[in-house]
Amino acid sequence: MNFSLFDTMPIPLLPAFSPPFQEELFSSWLTRMAYDHGLPLADFCKLVGVNGKHKRDLDLYVPDEAIRQLAQQTKLTTDQVAAMMMSGYHSKLVEQSNQPERLDRWFFRKYDPLGNTVRGSLLYCPKCLSNHHQEPYFRKHWRLAFSFVCLTCQCYLLDQCPHCKKAVTLLGKTMDTHPWRNAAEYMVHCGYCVKHLAAVTPDVAPSFALKTQQELYDILEHGFNERAFYPLTYFRVLHHLSTLLITRKAKLVRDARKNLLPLIGRLYEQHKVAPIFSPREEVQVQFLPIQQRAQVLQIAVWWLQDWPRRFLDLAKRHGLQSVDIIGQFKNPPFWFWEPVIHQLIPPLTPALKEVPFGFQAIFTKPRNRAKKKQEIRKIKKYRQKQYGIS
Ligand SMILES: [Zn+2]
Ligand SMILES: [Zn+2]
Repeated sequence: MNFSLFDTMPIPLLPAFSPPFQEELFSSWLTRMAYDHGLPLADFCKLVGVNGKHKRDLDLYVPDEAIRQLAQQTKLTTDQVAAMMMSGYHSKLVEQSNQPERLDRWFFRKYDPLGNTVRGSLLYCPKCLSNHHQEPYFRKHWRLAFSFVCLTCQCYLLDQCPHCKKAVTLLGKTMDTHPWRNAAEYMVHCGYCVKHLAAVTPDVAPSFALKTQQELYDILEHGFNERAFYPLTYFRVLHHLSTLLITRKAKLVRDARKNLLPLIGRLYEQHKVAPIFSPREEVQVQFLPIQQRAQVLQIAVWWLQDWPRRFLDLAKRHGLQSVDIIGQFKNPPFWFWEPVIHQLIPPLTPALKEVPFGFQAIFTKPRNRAKKKQEIRKIKKYRQKQYGIS
């Protein structure tokens, strides 16, 4: 321990410090600390320099300055404080660390009946929360939208209070309303109906869900394969494929839909899952109920296994064109883009990014009708030569 810290410290240490548990989520730790100081979470946030807009989601938005202050007040290092936040997943799940909202793609969110997101909504494992050998706390990976089972307890996580069906959140619960005896009690009771969150028999997770979950965590840790060793690109592709699987509206896949539908139907059938469509207009896999999310991700993970052989076999068998797969995929990573472009049939009216190397010149945006016709002729010729189709 560095005792010089005490001489120079401009901010006094917090009197009731408790160290974070393993894999503890920032808002969970802050809630325990607030309780230990006898303060509501909102007041404690003010005390430690977390205020204003940052409170809308503590795990996402806390600024560096507040993290530094908390570290000084608790004897933790700034890295230890920051590691509890979702920013720990930067570079693994988002492109730029200065845009926390980009975590949205894989960030669990729960909607209220009016369709608004519930701030700080959490997933949780009821068995872990009621483990008598461990004080209850929320884990960091319970905020990821691709978390759906607890690998330790082998059951499904819950994405809402099992009694009143409202979102589970640590924010907005006041300590005055109910006489919680300690932080542990505060943690495990629903903020709305006040019932025990773990007073439920969780659904046993089937083996496919456990296997898929393990695989996703492994990829998050170690990357996908030697060509896609950055988890970031794998999870971008996985999200795109999950979106294709649940899109009902033609907007996203437009013309591609008629080609894709038979393949998607086949994938669901093969996995013995009834087709799942997004209940919302924004087609995002994280809005699906948890067990459906597990099923869709299972199929998407399977689809990408043995890359690119399985994927291309299926695509060719269903006569897919490259545009069916990447037509609406902005900046697909090279390892995904390259086999799709080179081995699937190019479309008649491709966008520039979908064009094989060496052919970019003929796909530049046509300025007039004559030029467009001329370009389509060139593409037809190319398709005829390469694939024997017109
Ligand atoms: Zn558990
Ligand atoms: Zn409840």
